[in-house]
Amino acid sequence: MRNEKDYDLVVIGAGPAGMTAGIFGARSGLETLVIEKGICGGLSNEATVVDNFPGFKSIGGMELVEKMKEQTADYVEIKELEEVTKIAISGKEKKMMLSTEKGTYLTDAVVLCTGTKKRKLGVKGENEFLGRGVSYCATCDGFFFKDKSVIVVGGGDSAVRGALYLKNLGCEVTLLHRRDKLRAEQYLQTSLGKAGVYILWNSVVQEIKGDKAVRSVVRYDKERDIEDELAVDGVFVYIGEEPANALATQIDVKLDKEGYILTDKRQRTNVERVYAAGDITGGVKQIVVACAEGAIAATSAYEDLTE
Ligand code: NAP
Repeated sequence: MRNEKDYDLVVIGAGPAGMTAGIFGARSGLETLVIEKGICGGLSNEATVVDNFPGFKSIGGMELVEKMKEQTADYVEIKELEEVTKIAISGKEKKMMLSTEKGTYLTDAVVLCTGTKKRKLGVKGENEFLGRGVSYCATCDGFFFKDKSVIVVGGGDSAVRGALYLKNLGCEVTLLHRRDKLRAEQYLQTSLGKAGVYILWNSVVQEIKGDKAVRSVVRYDKERDIEDELAVDGVFVYIGEEPANALATQIDVKLDKEGYILTDKRQRTNVERVYAAGDITGGVKQIVVACAEGAIAATSAYEDLTE
């Protein structure tokens, strides 16, 4: 364990929000560090195509992340594969101490860009067949299901994008949704229709079955009040996200009723010199919004620290 030096600003999480906060923090002259438990980009890495980020008509999520990372690294140190597990505020100066498995970091201000984690179905077989037919990422695992039959669960943008990606790979895709209406953007729904993806409406996954790998899904048809078994090779779960708020709760940062961090317009939380940006604040979960919030958070930190 090492004791690290004292920073002005530490950004936790290196998705689009965190990387942008890092750039703005460093450019304003703050001694800044960005720490990321995984690799840069977070869930943006899984976006098959990003076509609503100005300046790029259409770009793969990973490619966009790579460009952002390159630019961020020009200004600020990014520590990847290092998870902040503890955050504590102490002393008259209210210094913040961040602990990771590798050491500790002191800082005057923190931007929480911890994002979200994938929601699980919570049905029998989901954990058991993870990596053996159950997946949460079409771009990561879709290739293994080429020419095979897959079910995509969910009705939001992620599910529809996942279904389109899998269809394009040559999978036989069925979208299974719990209601009779999708919440995905209209243009994605139109693409889904054009691609010929079959939709099972008003349906709920009851169980995922298999042997060495997934073989079927037990579905409950709410409208007809019947249960049936559908033969499939893969189940892609896209039923939304939950806020990764564990660090926020350690220092009593206020959350909304769904667990997302509450901020003011300048990304300040209720805790002095603690800011939040990106998906962890809920709202419009788009890369462009995350970047904007990251920029605002770092600018607020600069203003508060130099006042
Ligand atoms: P989402 O919009 O929250 O959609 C989740 C879907 O899963 C909903 O259709 C929901 O059904 C369903 N669902 C939730 N819990 C379920 C459960 N327990 N069992 C079965 N189904 C369940 O999540 P998302 O698609 O991951 O998108 C998250 C955010 O990222 C959204 O704001 C989205 O706009 C954004 N996003 C944007 C893009 C883009 O390219 N612009 C791409 C991906 C994501 P109901 O509809 O009945 O609630």
